[in-house]
Formats: sequence, C-alpha cells, structure tokens
Amino acid sequence: MMQYPGRSVYKGIALGRIEVYRKHDDQVSRKKISDVDAEIGKVRMAVIQARGQMQRSYETARKEAGEESAAVFNVYQLILEDEGFLDPVLDMIRTQKVNAGYAVAVTRDKLSEMFAQMDDPHMRARAADIEDIANVLIRILEGRAGGELSPRTPVILVADDLSPSETVQMDREKVLALVTVHGSANSHTSILARMMGIPALVQVPVDLEEIHTGMLAVVDGLEGTVVFGPDEKICERAKEKIKEEQERTQLLGSLKGKENVTLDGKKIHIYANIGSLSDVGAVLDSDAGGIGLFRSESLYLGRDTFPTEEEQFQVYKKVAQAMGGKKVIIRTLDLGADKQADYLDLGKEANPAMGYRAIRICLKQPDIFKTQLRALCRAAVYGNISVLYPMIISAGEVRQIQRILKEVQEGLDKAGIPYKDPEQGIMIETPAAAMISDRLAEMVDFFSIGTNDLTQYTLAIDRQNERLEDLYDPHHEAVLRMIRMVVENAHEHGIWVDICGEAGADLALTERFIRMGVDGLSVAPSMVLEIRRAVRGMKI
Ligand code: PEP
Ligand code: MG
Repeated sequence: MMQYPGRSVYKGIALGRIEVYRKHDDQVSRKKISDVDAEIGKVRMAVIQARGQMQRSYETARKEAGEESAAVFNVYQLILEDEGFLDPVLDMIRTQKVNAGYAVAVTRDKLSEMFAQMDDPHMRARAADIEDIANVLIRILEGRAGGELSPRTPVILVADDLSPSETVQMDREKVLALVTVHGSANSHTSILARMMGIPALVQVPVDLEEIHTGMLAVVDGLEGTVVFGPDEKICERAKEKIKEEQERTQLLGSLKGKENVTLDGKKIHIYANIGSLSDVGAVLDSDAGGIGLFRSESLYLGRDTFPTEEEQFQVYKKVAQAMGGKKVIIRTLDLGADKQADYLDLGKEANPAMGYRAIRICLKQPDIFKTQLRALCRAAVYGNISVLYPMIISAGEVRQIQRILKEVQEGLDKAGIPYKDPEQGIMIETPAAAMISDRLAEMVDFFSIGTNDLTQYTLAIDRQNERLEDLYDPHHEAVLRMIRMVVENAHEHGIWVDICGEAGADLALTERFIRMGVDGLSVAPSMVLEIRRAVRGMKI
C-alpha cells in the first residue's frame, strides 16, 4: 500500500483500477517506405493479432462481467473486418508510401471525426470504438508494450501531467478520477476536470515506474490523498465516503427549482461553465440559469485542422437548443499559452501567457475569427446566445472586433443566410481592461470577470507555476479592489457584470461579491447548487 498527498482540484472520492497514461502512446510519426507490399503485409499481420486479442478479451470480459459488457470486443472485431476501415489504410500506404502505423493513425482520426459528427447517437458512439481499436493496431505495428486494450470500465487515470487538449478529449464516462505528478490547481487542465466533475489531484509525488495499470487505488479529493493498492479498511472507508457524497448531492437536489435570492431579497443569477457540448447534460442537471462561459477553444484542441464553420455552427446550435432559451454565453477562442495544437503553428514564445493568444490571434488572423463569428451569428437563431471576447486590453480592440463582426454580418446578409446579432460582452481579465472598464462599458452589453487571469496578471504570478501556487491569491486586495471597480463602472453605464473565473465558486468570497453588487456567478456545474445554498442563507 502506498499513500501520497496531492493538491485537490475537485473534491470527490473515487475507488477503482488505475491506468497509467504515458504521453504520445498513440501518436505515430510519418516515415517514407520503399517496400509497399511488406508494409501492407505488416497491416494484415497486425489485424490478425488484434483480432486474436479482441477474441480473448471478449471471452474474459464475458466471464467476468457478462455478455453486455463483453459485446464491445465483438464490435472491435467487426471494425477490423470492415473494408471501410482497412481500405483507406492500404490505399494510403500504396499511394503515399507511408508507414503502416501512420496510415492507421490518419485513418483513425478521419473516421472517428466523421462518426463523431453524426446525428444518430449510436453512430456517434462508433467514433470512440474506432479510436480504441485503431490504437491497438498502432501499438502492435509500432511494437509498443501494452497492445492489449484496457477494459471498458472506467479508470483512475494517472499521468505525469496532462495538457488541456488531452483533458478535453477524455470521455467523462471512462474516467473515475485524475491523478498527476505535476500541474497547477489553477491550470486549464484542472479547471476542465472541475467543470467535468472529475475528482482530481495534482502534484502527487509518485514515481510512475512504481505503479502499474490495473492496480486498485482510492483518490480522496476531500483529504487530498491517493492510496495505491489500498487495504480492505481503506476501500470500505472510501465506499462509505462515496455514499455520503451521494447523500449530500441528493440533499442539494432539493434546491433545484428554487431562486438564487438572499434572505433580504437580493437576486443574482447563477450560471454554469462548460468546455464542450458533452458538459451540457451536467448543466441541465445542475439547474443552472444558463451557461455563463462556454470555453469554445476546446473545439480547436486535440485535432489536426481548424474546425470548419459548419462544425462549429452545429455545436453552438446544439448547445443553444439544449438550453432551451436560457442564456448561453460563448467565448470566442482563447487559444495560445497552454492551449496548443500543432496545426495552429503559434510558434515558441518566451512568455506564452503574455504572448500571442486569444483575441490577439483573432485580430491578427481575422479569417480564423470570421469563421467562428459566422458560426456564432448563425447559431444565435436557435437560442439565446451571447458572445464574449477574451483577453481584451483596449477600446481599440473592441472597435476592431465590432468592424469585423459587421463585415461578417454583411456577408451573411448578402448570401441570404439567416443569423441573429448576439449580445456582446468582454472578459475583464487583464488589469488594463479593469482600469479602463468605464470606457469599455460604453461599448458592450456586459462584462464577465475572469478572476483566473486577472489574478495572474495583477500579481505577476504565472497561474501554471506549481512553485508559486501559495502566492497565487484571488483574495489579494489588489484583485478584489479591481473587481469592485469593474462592478461600479459597469453599473454606472447600465450594463451587467458576472464573474466566470474560479473565484466565482469560492464560497469564502460569495458574500463579498454579492455585497459588491456582482449580478451573477458562473461556476462549474457541480458548484451551482452549493452557491445557491450559500446565497439563500446570507443577508447583505
Ligand atoms: C479567467 O481567466 O478567469 C477565465 C475564466 O478564463 P480562463 O480560465 O479560460 O483563462
Ligand atoms: Mg482567462
């Protein structure tokens, strides 16, 4: 039994088997080959080997977990036999003379993306199956250990570190908890875990060579500990805690349908933050009044090309429709810094947090921005969408945005494409924006205060730096004074202001924010009812 402390990111409990995740396991580099027949032979051998593995896994799973759980291994075998999967791989080897592993990886990405876009949920589910089985083939072809596919049961994922793009690709249903050796509690990876409601610990000083996939573990986000190979007593205690947590959630459930109103009658709105379409279920379940922050950059991560206008339109439209007329605030892409993808080609920077990111990319590469704005304006027809711009530092930027938006809308008019002009807001997350918030308030419909970056830039503390976490303090007087100033300036100019950074879910600050006059808070779905309870118990 090995116990380690960790910094808790989301306070949940999990008990289950671990999967040790090693980076780039399923990525393959492209190599030129000269012997096409030999490469095709390798694919055929790998398919035979993979089918054998799937048959064995099917039999084991059927014995241990029943026919229903085992069925997926049959699906994998069917995919391996399907020409629609194998033909593109073989064609690519023949025509482009590339290595087998690379051809499988490219085919995997194309097919899984195609399936993921389908309307039928059964067909959509095929995307994950294709990825799983393609990864098995890749591991065989590349001679990597662990070609066996992990069972389809949810696991506790243990990794050295996880990037936001790795985290957004995770299937919430398959992850019980996250444990990482590195990482800051204020990073986007941690925020994503919180939004998805996944118990998570960072900075756990475990040697990954000392643990192995399949080990049992208990992650306790309340205590900030993880135990690998727990004894019976610890497992029993974890089960009790999981039950207590479920009871607590049930109790909070009685607040659904109730107003967010203080004892003396002050009403605020409580919205939820999301990273992807799949988080909308949790928002609806949380009874949030709307979505206060949809971090749309997740649509750009974990892929090889920019999302098209149509792809984006479909996602925004589905979110708006699912929310049935409730407010949906979609933030335009906040890429750069820690949110990277190779195809973005953003370049290396000495200070990426202060570099080429967010609105700066949009204004310097307006084509990327216009594609997103077109998708947003079109989707606005289907619900109550507002658009939010990140990392603003000047009135000039807002004017530039307005010019580009006008061009986009004129283009839609000309093409006769239906759209709506959405409500416009800006993030106040730089000290510059806070200091000129009186001027900015004249230009937009609302503000959303991003306390994560506002803290980072006000205190000059990199939010990603594990060593400085003790100094990263959203309670710092400088940050709180700025928030107060922004609220006053917003109200003087007749616009509303929310807080969508992580401090919005900090119960130690809730009363202070409401006293300052903040109109709303946007928090992880799992925190909506907690905040409602706090609001309903306070007098301002
Ligand atoms: C913030 O900075 O507070 C914010 C909400 O944006 P992000 O965390 O995505 O940078
Ligand atoms: Mg931010």
